[in-house]
Amino acid sequence: RRSRPPSMAEAAMAARVPPDEDGDECLPQYRHLLSPDLLAGQVAFITGGGSGIGFRIAEIFMRHGCRTVIASRNLQRVSEASKKLVAATGQQCLPLSVDVRQPQTIVAAVDEALKEFKRIDILINGAAGNFLCPASALSFNAFKTVIDIDTMGTFNTSKVLFEKYFRDHGGVIVNITATLSYRGQALQVHAGAAKAAIDAMTRHLAVEWGPNNIRVNSLAPGPITGTEGFRRLGGKFAEKSDQFSVIPLQRAGNKTEIAHSTLYLASPLSSYVTGTTLVVDGGSWLTSPNSFSALLGIASSSAK
Ligand code: NAP
Repeated sequence: RRSRPPSMAEAAMAARVPPDEDGDECLPQYRHLLSPDLLAGQVAFITGGGSGIGFRIAEIFMRHGCRTVIASRNLQRVSEASKKLVAATGQQCLPLSVDVRQPQTIVAAVDEALKEFKRIDILINGAAGNFLCPASALSFNAFKTVIDIDTMGTFNTSKVLFEKYFRDHGGVIVNITATLSYRGQALQVHAGAAKAAIDAMTRHLAVEWGPNNIRVNSLAPGPITGTEGFRRLGGKFAEKSDQFSVIPLQRAGNKTEIAHSTLYLASPLSSYVTGTTLVVDGGSWLTSPNSFSALLGIASSSAK
């Protein structure tokens, strides 16, 4: 951490960074940068919407007039999240239980969502699992589990939405991926491979489903504060060691920033954008260290 007072450039930068709340809490205040009715009348189905980045995406979408379905395995978690989201935004939010590895649970959830809202315009594939582990210590099953949740889960959910609604009505899909595969991030072969496959899926589905008026894009976040991913993947270590100075923008990102970029991809602001990956990482993947031993240090510190 810097002890000197912030420079004028740093103060100006801080003023431009939208505020965020740690944990799965709604923002106490929100200043709209875009029209509050940007997504009015629309419905978004958000997997992993009960926590972290997915929770903030749900909040920001609802603050722009969208109704949401937030779906993950833990019904209690999404139900509590839904109460907070409704109280903060005044919009409707339907919490549903889903395991993206099991297509029949997705079918049931999408049926329920369509019964409630009669439409779904946006799908955010945010559900994922991750942990740090060297390939040599990774079990066959651990690798498979991450592929099952991230890659299979994204395909399963996209296909169900396509068949149940998007094929006939069009839609927008945003897949939340990662930059891990770009430089072969150490300790992340499972998540890097899973997310790279999703980025490929984004391009394939954009080509096949474009004629159905379906846009498909990926959003790849960098290190994002106030998330489970950040805590598990060494956030404490990174904060202590001033590691952010190696990131071009000199800081980690926050959930509100990811939600704003997702809002861009999900809204008509990006009406001619499909088949692409938007990297939202402050330039991090270009410059961050990728040393096995340093990352193992992170693994042992985050395990405490
Ligand atoms: P998170 O809060 O742990 O979000 C993951 C969500 O996925 C949870 O809500 C979890 O809910 C859900 N989930 C897990 N397995 C599932 C399954 N089988 N079926 C349905 N839902 C399932 O983590 P996050 O850090 O905010 O990450 C959100 C997304 O951003 C992920 O795709 C992650 O890979 C990506 N990302 C995050 C960062 C970061 O710095 N945080 C960086 C790059 C990419 P349940 O446990 O209730 O199922």
